[in-house]
Amino acid sequence: MNTRLITSVADLQSFGREVHPRGRSLALVPTMGALHEGHLSLIRRAKQQCDAVLVSIFVNPTQFNSGEDFARYPRDLEKDIETLRALNVDGIFAPRDEDMFPAEFDTFVEPGKLSAPFEGAARPGHFRGVATIVLKLFNLVQPDLAYFGQKDFQQVQVIRRMVDDLGLPVRLVICPIVREANGLALSSRNALLSPEDRQAAAALHRCLSRVDALVQAGEVRSENLLEAMREVVRTESRVTLDYLALVDPLQFEPVERVTAGTVALIAAHLGPVRLIDNLILGPPGASPELLLQLAFASRPVVDPRARIPGLEVETLCQRIAACRDCAAMSSVMIPPREYLAKYLKRDYPDLNCVRVLVIGRDAPMNPEHFFYKHPEHPDRFDRALYAMLGVEKFEDFKHAFVLTDALRCHVQSPQVPEKALTFCARHLREELNQFPNLHTVVILGKDAYQQFQKEVLGRSGVAIKPYETALNGQGWAEEQVPFPQVSAGTLQLIYAYHPTRNQKQSPSLAAALSPVFQQR
Ligand code: AMP
Repeated sequence: MNTRLITSVADLQSFGREVHPRGRSLALVPTMGALHEGHLSLIRRAKQQCDAVLVSIFVNPTQFNSGEDFARYPRDLEKDIETLRALNVDGIFAPRDEDMFPAEFDTFVEPGKLSAPFEGAARPGHFRGVATIVLKLFNLVQPDLAYFGQKDFQQVQVIRRMVDDLGLPVRLVICPIVREANGLALSSRNALLSPEDRQAAAALHRCLSRVDALVQAGEVRSENLLEAMREVVRTESRVTLDYLALVDPLQFEPVERVTAGTVALIAAHLGPVRLIDNLILGPPGASPELLLQLAFASRPVVDPRARIPGLEVETLCQRIAACRDCAAMSSVMIPPREYLAKYLKRDYPDLNCVRVLVIGRDAPMNPEHFFYKHPEHPDRFDRALYAMLGVEKFEDFKHAFVLTDALRCHVQSPQVPEKALTFCARHLREELNQFPNLHTVVILGKDAYQQFQKEVLGRSGVAIKPYETALNGQGWAEEQVPFPQVSAGTLQLIYAYHPTRNQKQSPSLAAALSPVFQQR
């Protein structure tokens, strides 16, 4: 099929009638022309996935809130047609303004709160114009799939909302951002930049890359990340910042801490040209497709104060899995097999809920029996632990408790060497830091007792009471220690016998733990 140039609505409808009855899938790629590699990446993807591809080229006047911006928007229809013919797309829809918006036109789509901040605030009426033209194109073309770029992140979310809200029979495909070698995101507006501004504009991407690097290094507080971004922008005097933000990808609300899928947004002016860019934050080495999935598949956060297991947890997981200090010890023959961080995302949607951390060696010979692996089949240790804490089953346990095995790398060594304690304690401290509302740590058994005293509390010599003496009497012991990392500033520590490894048994700790739950 030769590329068909369609300029009227009537022609477009006959194009649709030709494609659809033959059961062929039709893709729409809406653009405003002045095509660049970014647009072409969408078109190539559409060609791979669909039988027929229609590219629309229409500089939509209703989405420009300044007549001047509309007038100088780059246009080169002849060249675009040539490019699209070379790509062998099936149709080009290039209507005139009066075809799409005749004089009597009087109906608009009014997107809701997703369209209010950022681009919506900077360009009042912009998303109303975008939603209206996109809905009109969807109705005229009736595509099975429609292709949009991550480059216009907020636009994608507004359109997604419209498709869901109005039940439109079209699937959206979102494609990653195509950039120049210096990182500048391709945009038709780049053609309006002076050579100096074009070079300076690379600062937008540098700024996003800086956040990414800091997040990968473990910084997750938005306040610090935004300041680091501002610092990068300040190095480039030609760039005038419009906004910088770290937002939840679905709600478009600023977050206090970044998690996988959080989006960094930037908008800035270079002379008369306004540019936008964004980056999805995710685990190290994640592909652009995985990042898009993270951003678009994440569920809305119901409680905005919830602390969702995010990048810190992923980074910690990787650090434990690749702990070279442990691997370097001759007595340690096996890498860590199972650890709490691996399961936080699955079982703990809000880390704020965790009030009690239990440290105890759950080191079954068969890793399938690890506490978190199959919580639906509790084994001897699991049942003894539940009885000790006064909970019935995993569903109850996970509402407020977590279990970690601080000596997770050393499950098979009968005598845990000194050095192992030091190495593992670093990860244990990081685990403790994941739970801001931690109230109590229950420490099971002698190894965990000594490790905690020495490596976490920094005690030595006579300051560490012998374990047996500490637990004598009632079979468990308790103390309060200052602990600035948690919101209360102190931690209650409860020492008890390991429920399955000791001859001696501690009584139920339910009564000792009850203040934890009264204070909620
Ligand atoms: P526009 O012509 O600017 O309206 O863009 C048409 C489509 O191409 C939109 O879905 C954009 O998000 C997408 N797009 C624009 N620039 C890029 C880019 N650099 N990389 C990928 N997609 C892009």
